Amino acid sequence: MVPSRGVLRPLGLSEVRITGGFWAQRQETNSRATLDHGREWMDKLGWTGNFTAEAGRGSAERRGREFSDSEVYKLIEAMSWETGRQADPARDAEIAELTAMIASAQAADGYLHTAFGRPGQRARYGDLAWGHELYCAGHLLQASVARARTSGDDALLNVARRVADHVCEEFGPSGRDAVCGHPEIEPGLVELFRATGEQRYLDQAALFVARRGRRTLPRHEFGWSYFSDDIAVREAKVLRGHAVRALYLAAGVVDLAVETGDDELLETVAAQFDRTLARRTYLTGGMGSRHLDEAFSDDFVLPADRAYSETCAGIAAIMVAWRLMLATGREHYADVIERILYNVVATAIGDDGRSFFYAHTLHQRSLTAVLPGDVEQLGFGGGPRAPWFEVSCCLANTARMLASLSTYVASVDDDGLRVHQYADADIDTALADGRRVGLRMRTGYPDEGTVGIEVTAAEPGPWTLALRLPSWAAGATVTVNGEPQQATGDRVVLRRDFAVGDRIVLALPMRPRFTRPDPRIDAVRGCVAVEQGPIVLCAESAGGALDLDSLRVDAGTDPAADGGVTVRGVAEELPERPWPYADAGPVGRRTTLDVPLVPYHRWARGGPSTMRVWLPTT
Ligand SMILES: [Zn+2]
Repeated sequence: MVPSRGVLRPLGLSEVRITGGFWAQRQETNSRATLDHGREWMDKLGWTGNFTAEAGRGSAERRGREFSDSEVYKLIEAMSWETGRQADPARDAEIAELTAMIASAQAADGYLHTAFGRPGQRARYGDLAWGHELYCAGHLLQASVARARTSGDDALLNVARRVADHVCEEFGPSGRDAVCGHPEIEPGLVELFRATGEQRYLDQAALFVARRGRRTLPRHEFGWSYFSDDIAVREAKVLRGHAVRALYLAAGVVDLAVETGDDELLETVAAQFDRTLARRTYLTGGMGSRHLDEAFSDDFVLPADRAYSETCAGIAAIMVAWRLMLATGREHYADVIERILYNVVATAIGDDGRSFFYAHTLHQRSLTAVLPGDVEQLGFGGGPRAPWFEVSCCLANTARMLASLSTYVASVDDDGLRVHQYADADIDTALADGRRVGLRMRTGYPDEGTVGIEVTAAEPGPWTLALRLPSWAAGATVTVNGEPQQATGDRVVLRRDFAVGDRIVLALPMRPRFTRPDPRIDAVRGCVAVEQGPIVLCAESAGGALDLDSLRVDAGTDPAADGGVTVRGVAEELPERPWPYADAGPVGRRTTLDVPLVPYHRWARGGPSTMRVWLPTT
């Protein structure tokens, strides 16, 4: 994602590398297992094979849901970021093979979707609400740009250009006055415009955004809000409806506003996202609390045991937050990104890299089933990490996020360099004025709060190094070559004539802390959660040995952190009653105990367990 303007310039994979620690381990698993796992399942289920079908192949032979093409595209995008991260000739060959398959399925006029338009299939664009044709095209566009940027190979880009040209012909000013039920073509078109300079791709994105909210999609029981087609983008006050759709659209709108210089539109979508954060977001950064339609609910409807919080919605929220931060320079969006990374993205993928969560409950009451490794799951409203789901959008989405993660670590502004995320990383880039700068960052974060940064390249003259101060980090300290510096606000700003060997140490307070919900979130009123640094903790009962529903914690006693984190609490036996309502609550025998807490991202890794993030107080 390379916007042409904005307060911050993002860095490419060649400018920043994650070299060790929490995220390097996950990038390694992604590289070693998850990419191949995705490919194996997509081959097995026929999703890749759909592309090699001859033009005359009938619909009965096509396999998978309408959006399965997009999974192949997202996997190629993930593979492309991965080969940009570290060279891999075998993976390059695999991308070339997949590209050739995809190119072979493209119609002479540029149209490309394996579920529509062939003999025996539904007509092209005959089902804009549910067909996902433009959605799939959007993912192809993004994948093609990722491939071109990381390799210089433009074979997929040429396919994407023909798709985009076809879309512009079909849906241009004098074409169909319509939008796709699932936004995604919008950010794809803007990104292709950035990569190719082709103005009409940007114009087409603008047209799709202007058409959204006019209820051109058919009436549906979920309402037009499900498709973000209920209210014009410029009129809406908050994100609503299907969470991933709303967030992908918001990402595309930020892209459009940036490239067209439309600051009013930019502030409109920023306000929508800020309000969504303030009223419709889980503690983990997860979004979407309605299972029925995978949607945002009303303000403050955030029940822990019904959290949908799809992995893809988390990733889409990172996309929006990142775009808004680059455009506006507002550092608090990096806090949001960190929260989602550690509590949604890190939670999603199993230790083996071959299983994943689709939804992220914050309260698991009963033990989940152990899932066989060779069966795709049909339901995706919760449950344990599964090897595959019938709808497997989240796996490839997580894979592309992890492979490109280093690009979220830092950025360049007019004054110097900003560090947004703390990890073992090497940065080697150019400041806005062209001077070269290098940093080596080493840390035990998030297990420890000390971040050491050494300047490894610098040219004469002052510049600014800015380090994000997370919102929870009151009391953080910073030194440069041992001299204490001011550390307040949302970032430490260090301006000086840095020299090679200068050493900056940031110390973030990592005491576990109680967090209380807004009282309007009725579902968890009277509860507390415990956070440590960016990590949300949870109580987990392996095998269900402890009834977590009987637990109450003493929020007057600070959490302890000797070895692991514990909170003082009581377990109260709850008698069975014929009717769960009475003039007084049940009274059972109470046992005092220290409740061990674990990072939420670790839950259910040792087998089925019960779990809760929000804990009632005594
Ligand atoms: Zn998903």
